[in-house]
Amino acid sequence: MTKIKEGYKNEKEIFLEHIQKAGLRRTAQRDLILEIFLKTEEHLTSEDLYWLVQKQDPSVGHTTVYRTLKLLTEAGLAREVRFGDNKTYYEHHYNHEHHDHLICTECGKVVEFFSPEIEAMQDATAHKFGFVPTHHSLRLWGICEDCQQTTHESHPSMASGAQPRVRVKTVVGS
Ligand SMILES: [Zn+2]
Ligand SMILES: [Zn+2]
Ligand SMILES: [Zn+2]
Repeated sequence: MTKIKEGYKNEKEIFLEHIQKAGLRRTAQRDLILEIFLKTEEHLTSEDLYWLVQKQDPSVGHTTVYRTLKLLTEAGLAREVRFGDNKTYYEHHYNHEHHDHLICTECGKVVEFFSPEIEAMQDATAHKFGFVPTHHSLRLWGICEDCQQTTHESHPSMASGAQPRVRVKTVVGS
């Protein structure tokens, strides 16, 4: 409770080590992007993060944000996730428990969940086929409780073979 000010010491060290290994310099812009990313407990596209960074420093370009996110991912601080709307989202990876996602195809709400039973079954399935499981991403698409009430007549009861269309809510308006 009292260690708020220490803020992300490990994360910052990991990032610094990674950019040095990559032969890059530490810059104020990269530090700012890291800071804002770590403060935001959301699923963010690089566009979302760009707008958040813009509020603090309008001189930071989109490419810098994008490249920094790539560096964060390589360093193990961020993880890429996809929700079926052709965008790449990023979430915290370091020190965050593994979880999977439920995505509402009506409003784009994303819910995180963890099921030990499903995890165990996935591992057992991998072993059954002679695989050593390394990672996975389980996503369930559906209609959330709120949307079941508002859009009751409009959604089809049977899913088509097409990938579900999802409109994930952006965290920040542009
Ligand atoms: Zn899982
Ligand atoms: Zn919904
Ligand atoms: Zn997540």
